[in-house]
Amino acid sequence: MIEAVLKEWDGEGVIIRYDHLSGAWIFIAIHSSLLGPPTGGTRMKTYSSPEAALQDALKLAAGMTYKYAAANFARGGGKAVIALPANFDPTQRRDLLLRYGALIRQLNGSFYTGPDVGTSSEDMDVIGETGAPYIFSRTPAKGGAGSSGPATALGVFSAMQAVGEKCFGSDSLSGRKILVQGAGGVGGTLIEMLVEDGAEVSFSDLDQNAIRRFRDEMGLHFVEPDQIFDTECDIFSPCAMGGILNEQTVKRLKCKAIVGAANNQLATERDAQRLKEYGIMYAPDFVISIGGAMAITGMEALGWSSEQAEAEVRRVKTTLLKILELAESRDITTEAAARRLAQARLAAAAI
Ligand code: NAD
Repeated sequence: MIEAVLKEWDGEGVIIRYDHLSGAWIFIAIHSSLLGPPTGGTRMKTYSSPEAALQDALKLAAGMTYKYAAANFARGGGKAVIALPANFDPTQRRDLLLRYGALIRQLNGSFYTGPDVGTSSEDMDVIGETGAPYIFSRTPAKGGAGSSGPATALGVFSAMQAVGEKCFGSDSLSGRKILVQGAGGVGGTLIEMLVEDGAEVSFSDLDQNAIRRFRDEMGLHFVEPDQIFDTECDIFSPCAMGGILNEQTVKRLKCKAIVGAANNQLATERDAQRLKEYGIMYAPDFVISIGGAMAITGMEALGWSSEQAEAEVRRVKTTLLKILELAESRDITTEAAARRLAQARLAAAAI
């Protein structure tokens, strides 16, 4: 099974380690070093099988290559997955992270990492104890730039401005009905920015703390998670998990555009075509969720100030406008247009 998964993949290589002490599998997928050092988050969760974890790492690593290429940012694509056993003992977490850090250090700069689903800046502090200097996004107390969520949210917000300009004739989001799925690190900050800009925001989440904060304290309209695809809005913003745009869900959508941070939102490439046929403008996730990775890498590795990082992240708007125009002029999906742009940059770097 693992052989079949790897044969299908077009990346450079995978480091696989079984951590005997915890029972966790570690997969570090290096997709491409063409544009720069492979860099991507570390996802830590329980999977149905080690193969499913490997598949996730491979897909996410390839996504990172395209993400950096579309943004013209000099990093390569990589991603790590720590697949925890179902009976993982949480008291083992710190030791597991320290062993993982030592593995990153052994790779000697072939892979740089930061937080992803299931890991935080605090975890990066721990991993950094053994993995420095290859760890991004540690807490400010440990000399890092902190969480990537707010910068990712700014990138998504800038993308919404581009969509506003193309779809509604103005980049102001004031009065726009925007539905955010997932009010976590990215979605929560995005909601605050949208409210500040005068948008009419509604949201959905499974977490009681998020519901309390945004529904009860901020007074926003809460949408039950199973109603999300049937709720009318101008812009739907998936900020929870991937694979949600598929044959079953796309036909239920009642929005004019989709602009969100979740990685790999389209279940298949065919779903991009479906969205086009339904007249829904789709902002490719790998183009618009670059903000956090770009800002943190820029500030920690390239010496950017926070103002410079913010200005760079706001460039997502220009990049997306270019992609929307390319898609329109060639009559192709926005996903295909974004891939063309990224592939052209990768091809130029390969010469
Ligand atoms: P997070 O874990 O902080 O937040 C996700 C939120 O979604 C949580 O509040 C969770 O309760 C909620 N959620 C989960 N399932 C849901 C469902 N079915 N319906 C409604 N809500 C649901 O994660 P995050 O850091 O905010 O990232 C969100 C997404 O954006 C993820 O897919 C992540 O891979 C992607 N992303 C994040 C970053 C970043 O900088 N954090 C960068 C790029 C992409």
